[in-house]
Amino acid sequence: MVETYESLREEFDRKVEALRKRCTHPKVSDWAVEWWALAHSTGHEVKACEICGAVVNRRTRCSKCGRLLEEKEFVKGDGKTRALEVFCQACEDKWMEFAKRHPYVPRVVEMTVHATDGSVSTKKETLSEGMHYMEVYEEFMKERGK
Ligand SMILES: [Zn+2]
Ligand SMILES: [Zn+2]
Repeated sequence: MVETYESLREEFDRKVEALRKRCTHPKVSDWAVEWWALAHSTGHEVKACEICGAVVNRRTRCSKCGRLLEEKEFVKGDGKTRALEVFCQACEDKWMEFAKRHPYVPRVVEMTVHATDGSVSTKKETLSEGMHYMEVYEEFMKERGK
């Protein structure tokens, strides 16, 4: 079999997976910021096994109240009525209530259109449900306090 980048990577993945399966994670790092790319934090802190590199613990702060949450307490947004940020259960409940008080009613809004030739015009469009909840969510996040 010819070795390729792809085959090497598959072999690597397989070996790491096997290592992680038998590892008992005897040495675990301190909390460290997790990165998904250079200079782009995931917003989470993780504890990783120093032998196999597996993440054994994850925590982050509630996007609304700032309380530190363990992974099992995370309540993620559905990406539809609110962003995929992590809330604590209390803030999630408040958000659900807030959203209920601002239900989606189709309404016509004036949109500004920037054409490629530089001209600006307006057109009337029905506000989509997604846009509506984005606005409601923004308002909710601006509300001060608990
Ligand atoms: Zn391990
Ligand atoms: Zn919260």
